Amino acid sequence: MGLTRNILGSTGIKVTELCFGALPMGPLQKNMPFDAQVEVVAAALAAGINFIDTAQMYRTYPAVREGIHVAKAHGAKAHGAATFWSTSTRPVITGKSAVADYDGMAAAVDDALGQMDLDYVDVFLLHAPRIGPEVFEVRAGALRCLADRKKQGLIKATGLSTHDTRVVRLAAGRDDLDVVFPLVNKAGMGVLGGKLADMLAAIEECAAAGKGVYLMKVLAGGNLVDDYAAAVDFARGVKGHHSIAIGMVSPAEVAFNVDYFSRPVRTAGAALGTGAGIVTGDGGVGGEGGEGGLGSGGAGGTSSLAAPNMRIWNKRFQVFADLCKGCGACEGACPNGAITVRESTGRALIDDARCLTCGYCTSACPEFAIRVV
Ligand code: SF4
Ligand code: SF4
Repeated sequence: MGLTRNILGSTGIKVTELCFGALPMGPLQKNMPFDAQVEVVAAALAAGINFIDTAQMYRTYPAVREGIHVAKAHGAKAHGAATFWSTSTRPVITGKSAVADYDGMAAAVDDALGQMDLDYVDVFLLHAPRIGPEVFEVRAGALRCLADRKKQGLIKATGLSTHDTRVVRLAAGRDDLDVVFPLVNKAGMGVLGGKLADMLAAIEECAAAGKGVYLMKVLAGGNLVDDYAAAVDFARGVKGHHSIAIGMVSPAEVAFNVDYFSRPVRTAGAALGTGAGIVTGDGGVGGEGGEGGLGSGGAGGTSSLAAPNMRIWNKRFQVFADLCKGCGACEGACPNGAITVRESTGRALIDDARCLTCGYCTSACPEFAIRVV
């Protein structure tokens, strides 16, 4: 069985249950060489994933573009037809931007189109992980721009990404949002504006209102990677979701995730049911299975592949005190209140127990004082 495909709410856009998260390979996290980024994107597409989540902030648009070109070339060669990759089977791509005003968002959409060499972006989101319900006021201009770009056909669906349960709930009632990308994981780590149960209820409300829902941080930024099966099983059981974004940094990780998601959802324990809108279980673009030579199903849906060495997930972020000027810019960028400037030292310090390893603080620091170690 290949990856299941679901319809992303009322958008009509069909996506694989597993979405390729393009944040970790880029400069905010692992900062892989460009060719290695291209390789992993191409591997994901060849293995059947048809959904890529990226963002202006991630600085991975060029690698996504090249990965698509490589996968397309390989697919055309393997299938003996230059038309192998038709417009109807191109991957679904999400872009996003954290800008607030109309003109900034117009430039952000243009940037995504240009850098990824696209005629349109499938989904474009307000990138608003930390901001609360005021997001709809302070980003009103950006939201208006997305609505206009949708009318012009430059994007197919609008939406927002958020860690805040209240924002997810409000999104359910808004006509100007098609897709929601909320944070959820079995530990409730990083959930803002309520508890995990509130987030699960808000997600269901969104799905009932016809919103497309795909999930982020189901491994809590790597904190749950040692509990992969339970964390992923939990996410796959969240009612109302259509896809799950997982960051991947090697073809081995792609193969492992594709193998796991190609198995039926395990419903034992705390699993909550299946996602809404399942339409097919067909193979993805490039053929199911792909290069990984994925094995046959094991009992209970456990992957038959050995878990890859997910060294990227063992990373932690650290403030280099000699470089830190105590300006506090990183505090405002952190979606989970994990970094604070200490009164005693005048330097920022990261609380590893709260850190989601998103890397947002690194780009906010003018002194380049925050590094992956
Ligand atoms: S300290 Fe905050 S912004 Fe920085 S990596 Fe951790 S969660 Fe992300
Ligand atoms: S943004 Fe950089 S320099 Fe400013 S407090 Fe944070 S770590 Fe220190």
